[in-house]
Amino acid sequence: MEIKYCSTRNKEIQASASAAILQGLAPDGGLYVPMQFPKLTNSLAELGAMSYQEVAFAIMAAFFSDFEEVELKECIEKAYDEKFRDSLITPVKKVGAQYVLELFHGETLAFKDLALSILPHLMKTAARKQQNENEIVILTATSGDTGKAAMAGFADVKGTKIIVFYPESGVSPIQKKQMLTQKGDNTFVVGIKGNFDDAQTNVKALFNNQTLRSQMAAKGMQFSSANSMNIGRLIPQVAYYFYAYGQLVEKQAIQLGESINVTVPTGNFGNILAAYYAKELGLPINRLICASNQNNVLTDFFQQGIYDKNRPFYVTSSPSMDILVSSNLERFIYYLTDENPVETKKLMEQLNHTGRYEITSSMREKSSSFWAGFATEEETSKTIDQLYKQNQYVMDPHTAVAQSVCQAYQQETKDQTPTLIVSTASPYKFPQTVLQALNDSNTIEDSAKQDEFAWIQALHQKTGLAIPEVIKELADLPILHQTVIPNDEMQKMVETLLGI
Ligand SMILES: *Cc1c(COP(=O)(O)O)cnc(C)c1O
Repeated sequence: MEIKYCSTRNKEIQASASAAILQGLAPDGGLYVPMQFPKLTNSLAELGAMSYQEVAFAIMAAFFSDFEEVELKECIEKAYDEKFRDSLITPVKKVGAQYVLELFHGETLAFKDLALSILPHLMKTAARKQQNENEIVILTATSGDTGKAAMAGFADVKGTKIIVFYPESGVSPIQKKQMLTQKGDNTFVVGIKGNFDDAQTNVKALFNNQTLRSQMAAKGMQFSSANSMNIGRLIPQVAYYFYAYGQLVEKQAIQLGESINVTVPTGNFGNILAAYYAKELGLPINRLICASNQNNVLTDFFQQGIYDKNRPFYVTSSPSMDILVSSNLERFIYYLTDENPVETKKLMEQLNHTGRYEITSSMREKSSSFWAGFATEEETSKTIDQLYKQNQYVMDPHTAVAQSVCQAYQQETKDQTPTLIVSTASPYKFPQTVLQALNDSNTIEDSAKQDEFAWIQALHQKTGLAIPEVIKELADLPILHQTVIPNDEMQKMVETLLGI
């Protein structure tokens, strides 16, 4: 079955999978979506017996129908190898009465590694298939984890450059150090004096800047995106939901065919949208629980049917979710409108102009498989402490937001469906937050409190949890990127870096 992609804002704008991956964003500013959901050729039982790589192939082969089998297999082999510190790639762990899907065993210790370790390979293959000789310039806004994971994937990949913008004071010290020490002649990291939404809005504007695009084309360059707006990032994420389901069956946590709930700590709405895609493909998911931190714009959206970004922006202990404009929600809106690009475009333009839009009651009904909640800083911190005390399980703050919201959901609804908590980062990316939550920060001398690695050591001493090698190595790496600019100078920066 051939799957074509179209823009969420115009069905006439169509592309093959490889063209959509290469472009990143549709030329009208919309996001590419499959024009129909494929049918999987494997049964749930067959998928349950497969390795991670095999499941990944089954999903990607269904969606990326213009890729040859050998091409996809090569991409998968290069992506999901010993870079992942767990042979299951995405292991499911039993924690108390719940199951935690650990997505943080990749190179940068965040779930984004699952998609970003394969995206560069998909993009190179796509460029070859499209006979595209242009240099691909990856332009990316990051709330902390995408930037590093994307650079790790694209560093020294021939025919590509990657430029990452991050909010200078909106990422954790470890996230920052991971980015600023990035090697590779083709990698550029720039801090901005603004928040993630500023970075993302400006990146989108640069993408849609026709003058800049023609200037680049004249020099044999073109933009693409490593953000979850790229369909090449979204689809690989669908795989781990199927793979996790298989593990739950194997652990006899559920019977084959039984429904599960998933709780996803959400920012840009990419990860939870992948779970929604899995459900559309036939994975028995009952409820999709959307967990936010204090930037609870999505909670209000699901509870009231109103998306309103006109509200205070909070810098929280789960920085990768400090987002008020969730770009992947556009794809979900498209489905809620029954795939109506005119309606979708109207709402997105309202968001652009007024920062707000309201959905109809029939759209609200369609979203009823979702439940949304948020966790305050205090609830997040308490949850980390509670999980450790009860189960000796150390949870990062993003995952703790999900855990807290999941508990609230279960209390409110009395729903007993077996639940998967999606864990998106290693606690060692946020050692200070975690240790403070465990009420154990007094073991650190005041003079050492500025030193992230003192916190890492202390967290290790407290919990015995092994420190990942990549974190140990980080301590001695030199800082290679220093640039910080006001957020209205991003275009000038890009022009300078590209020699335009
Ligand atoms: C990016 C990120 C999220 C949010 O994921 P989305 O796909 O943007 O919703 C949550 N947790 C961590 C650790 C992340 O890096």
